[in-house]
Amino acid sequence: MSLILRRKRAAAAAKAAGVESLLVTHLPDVRWLSGFTGSNAALVLDSGRKGGTAGRAVLFTDGRYTAQAKAEAAGMKVVIARKSAAIAASEWMGEARIRRCGFDEGNTTVADLANMRKALPAAVRRKMFEPVGFLVAKLRWVKDAEEIKRMRAAAALGCRLFEGALKTMQPGMTEAAVAAELEYAARLAGAEAMSFPTIVASCPRSALPHGRATRAKLPRRGFVTLDFGVVLDGYCSDMTRTVHLGQARAGERNAYDAVLEAQETAVAAVRAGVTAGEVDEAARGVLRRAGLDKWFTHSTGHGVGLEIHEGPRLAAKQTQALEAGMVITIEPGIYMPGKFGVRIEDMVLVTAKGGEILTPSTKAWIEL
Ligand code: ZN
Ligand code: ZN
Repeated sequence: MSLILRRKRAAAAAKAAGVESLLVTHLPDVRWLSGFTGSNAALVLDSGRKGGTAGRAVLFTDGRYTAQAKAEAAGMKVVIARKSAAIAASEWMGEARIRRCGFDEGNTTVADLANMRKALPAAVRRKMFEPVGFLVAKLRWVKDAEEIKRMRAAAALGCRLFEGALKTMQPGMTEAAVAAELEYAARLAGAEAMSFPTIVASCPRSALPHGRATRAKLPRRGFVTLDFGVVLDGYCSDMTRTVHLGQARAGERNAYDAVLEAQETAVAAVRAGVTAGEVDEAARGVLRRAGLDKWFTHSTGHGVGLEIHEGPRLAAKQTQALEAGMVITIEPGIYMPGKFGVRIEDMVLVTAKGGEILTPSTKAWIEL
């Protein structure tokens, strides 16, 4: 989908929300609409409601980004400001006689809003800004062909890194060293960054759902959970595998098999038209029947894209229907405090026929 088409779709959504213009300040949204990747940016998009050109946009940034904005946001009007982009955009809207503008209240602080209002003529301050929610973010939930291509590449790199980690991990090595090796390999392979701080949680820390890598040493016997992702061409990957060092103790293998069954059952439930809650229940039901659901303390998954956590949320009772082109994670886990934890996570592309796993690394029981 071209950037122009994305802007037209955002304009149509803004028009439906009843505003003349949309002020976009959340950087991933700005990037998705304009191609611009700078750290100070705002975009004003005409909804076409007052007879203007729907989808016409002006990008605001500062002097550090003059050349970059021209190159990345080719064909767009760019305003270089000496102040915060959102304030410059507000001033510009006041001068352009725009009187009703939608903004994303979920990504705007109370102070931001006060400053945006202050930049307007006094007469229009009170009624100018209308909260319209995650309007652009929601459009981003469904990926186009180019985005899916990039996400496939990011996910495939994640798989290669996991396979490399299997070769380096051994008892006595610190969690931090495992993360360091993996992240070094990621950068060499072209990753711009990690999607989030790498999680390497060895038994009993594997019972912490978000155990960042520490100086703890990998044990001779026990689980190690590896949850990590790379950013490649702007798009995030996300995957988790749990492997076992040494021979399994009583209960460990059963727990692993139950999580794997829950994960595979949820992946099999993915299809356009199915609700997020139904996919969550597919995973939760398996763990309930195994008597382990009380240890499954988080939701089943989340959307992923330019951001590591996007919508839709795959949680209990979520009525949001999945749509073809969404990329989501399926990541059930169980966590037994003081003992161990197991989580298995894939990235899954939603299609009309089902879910396609983008992270096909093995999920079979691994004993290192
Ligand atoms: Zn993850
Ligand atoms: Zn995840």
